[in-house]
Amino acid sequence: MTTAQTPQSEPPVPAAPRERTRTGMSQEALKQAFIDNLFYVQGRFRDVATPNDLYMAAAYTVRDRLLERWLKCAQSYKDSAARTVCYLSAEFLLGPHLANNLLNLGITEAAHAAGVELELDFSEIMATEEEPGLGNGGLGRLAACYMDSLSTVQIPAIGYGIRYEFGIFDQEIENGWQVEKSDTWLKNGNPWEIPRYKLRFPVKFGGHTEQYHDEHGALRVRWAADLEVNGVAYDTPILGYGVGNVSLLRLWKSEAPESFDFQAFNVGDYYGAVHAKIEAETLSKVLYPNDEPAAGKELRLKQQYFFVSCSLQDMIRLHLHTVGSLDSFAEKFVAQLNDTHPALAVAELMRLLVDEHGMGWDQAWDITHRTFCYTNHTLLPEALETWSVRLFEKILPRHLELIYEINRRFLDEVRIRFLGDEDRVTRMSLISEDGGRRVRMAHLAVVGARAVNGVAELHSNLVKTTILKDFYELWPERFHNVTNGVTPRRFIAVSNPRLAKLITETCGDDRWLRDLSCLRQLEPYADDAEFRARWRAVKTAAKRDLARWLEQHAWVKVDPQSLFDVQAKRLHEYKRQHLNLLHIVSLYQRIKQDPNHSVVPRTFIFGGKAAPGYYMAKLMIKLINAVGEVINHDPQVNGTLRVAFMPNFSVQNGQRLYPAADLSEQISLAGKEASGTGNMKFSMNGALTIGTLDGANVEIREEVGPENFFLFGMTADEVRQRQSAGYHPWEIYQGDAELKSVIDLINSGLFSHGDPTLFRPLTDHLVNQDPFMVLADYRAYVDCQARVGTAWTDQHQWDRMSILNVARMGKFSSDRAIREYAEHIWQVEAKPVAC
Ligand SMILES: *Cc1c(COP(=O)(O)O)cnc(C)c1O
Repeated sequence: MTTAQTPQSEPPVPAAPRERTRTGMSQEALKQAFIDNLFYVQGRFRDVATPNDLYMAAAYTVRDRLLERWLKCAQSYKDSAARTVCYLSAEFLLGPHLANNLLNLGITEAAHAAGVELELDFSEIMATEEEPGLGNGGLGRLAACYMDSLSTVQIPAIGYGIRYEFGIFDQEIENGWQVEKSDTWLKNGNPWEIPRYKLRFPVKFGGHTEQYHDEHGALRVRWAADLEVNGVAYDTPILGYGVGNVSLLRLWKSEAPESFDFQAFNVGDYYGAVHAKIEAETLSKVLYPNDEPAAGKELRLKQQYFFVSCSLQDMIRLHLHTVGSLDSFAEKFVAQLNDTHPALAVAELMRLLVDEHGMGWDQAWDITHRTFCYTNHTLLPEALETWSVRLFEKILPRHLELIYEINRRFLDEVRIRFLGDEDRVTRMSLISEDGGRRVRMAHLAVVGARAVNGVAELHSNLVKTTILKDFYELWPERFHNVTNGVTPRRFIAVSNPRLAKLITETCGDDRWLRDLSCLRQLEPYADDAEFRARWRAVKTAAKRDLARWLEQHAWVKVDPQSLFDVQAKRLHEYKRQHLNLLHIVSLYQRIKQDPNHSVVPRTFIFGGKAAPGYYMAKLMIKLINAVGEVINHDPQVNGTLRVAFMPNFSVQNGQRLYPAADLSEQISLAGKEASGTGNMKFSMNGALTIGTLDGANVEIREEVGPENFFLFGMTADEVRQRQSAGYHPWEIYQGDAELKSVIDLINSGLFSHGDPTLFRPLTDHLVNQDPFMVLADYRAYVDCQARVGTAWTDQHQWDRMSILNVARMGKFSSDRAIREYAEHIWQVEAKPVAC
């Protein structure tokens, strides 16, 4: 039945092309989408919705917009058969997604306006997000910055890693001590990931190998494993800033094979089978919380193999699907190994090509060697990964055979080049023979890679002259430097919107967010008093925000007008948080000894987690809190000095700190910090650096100018000389009266309720061993801090230096780093996708 139109009415006006709810970018479309998602995804009416419901509805609203771009981009990459970068990393320290995705989509303002219309508390919604803390510190955060930049620079990329059910632990402080709480980031669901239940690969462990003849009579090897688990893909889209390019972050979750229970019923061992299932699912259960030292744990080796095998099987699947032959695998993919954690990939690709795909050794090696590149992240000998041959044989018997064969061929090459130099052969072998035979993962990575890079100029040079010297002499052309960078989207625009607004207004547009060298335009304003006042207001507002947060979460009141002196990074002796403490106690002592002694008001803020088994690092946390307890409550100090420990330093909490810092502490012993990236985040937000000539500090100082950087301490060369001449910290302790009285004060029990033994392990270690030469740099550090204090009293000059720091930080964008990798290491080209 039809309804007759009234003939005299106007012909129907075609409806205005209404924006689609799921993809529209206007405030109106976002508002409607939010309402729909709250109803249809969360199943809630507004008046009974919890904060998590509201967050999920907001997240799905943003995700819908990502998905459209992601699928279009994937299609475009596929059509162009573009070369793809696979970034293999055991860690991705992502941080919250929502605010970053709003920024990259360009809908931050529209979303806030929609939120206002809906009477939503946007900051409460943001605070509901659990951050995926799938990393320990700098290395994992670097992987996350690189994913952001790969998309923004428009390079086809897949990040491969592990979907840990428990990421880095949450840190609480109880009675001054660190207490670890498990990180249950998935408990309310994760709206940013898409499970690909059908995309799963088997991964084997244990058992033995067998030789057999194939149908052509060729001798082959079969791996008869005794355990198999499945890796299931979970995908998270990573959108670039202001572009249509989206990278794929594919993380693997371990599951038992579906068939487990049948086997169990057959042999009648139901509980045994359930145990096997639980064991299989343990693989992706928890992130190892060690930052630097490699813990020789069986589960860790299994995790590494698990994610590497899934990732390579996935790459092979993709290539066979589109091209049909593996001959061109290395033309299609380049795989970057983020440290040695994924170095097993070298042996695993050989196994897949030779054993599973029947390729000859030489061709397989040629492909493998052209596929991989390796980034070294540490020079600390105790942090270089090795695995006992015994454990290897038990877990990965086939890989051990392959490594032996790779080693045999490699050492022949060494012998030919360096006739008669058997010492060199022993040093370079993939297997160390001293103290029980062990597989050297860094050597495996270097031999299996076509390019090796360090992460700052100084570090890359030290790699070539120390730990990988022999390899550099054999293959100098393989060695590169790519200085680390960080993303200015998260670490300026998202975390410091006031500064971003001021920069955009001053530069005229937001181009600086895609080309950070544009910040140079700020330079002339360093001499503009009105601009400096606005600059100061931005900094003070951020300090007020942090002060409010610290009052609520660290129960300490701090004065936003005081100098915020911040050291936030993992707790480690080489990073020397105790050097910072010695300075604080020195100032305290000066005040106590001379009530008229004038010091500039300072707030010392620390943040950072200690590995749960790292006794000395945990004791440093206790000492920071103990010193704070005394100083903060001493009426004679009268608030001039404050010490605060920010609990649970994470990406999110870092975003609160960086904008508020006046002074950035980058005081590691020269030659120990590979690059550092915290140093870059602070400086980009207008903090001045007090630092040693270590890692990227060297280049930061070069860029910002030596007059805008507080330098102190020995150089890496001086450290080496001093150590080989014999280092005697006891003599320094005896020879510097102030230092001696500071250490004696700690030993007196003043900071430990009269207990003189509590901090003795720390002070004794300093006075007797001091492996990171804290005492040797003490005097230079304290003197340099006095120069900082003097500089602070000239606010105009300080602000000028702060502006120049930001203006000259362009080099340290992760976009620049990714462009260098693309050009010099990967040989990949951008594939622009419009948004
Ligand atoms: C940037 C960052 C780090 C690295 O800090 P460094 O000072 O370079 O060691 C560690 N943890 C988090 C959460 C970070 O964001």
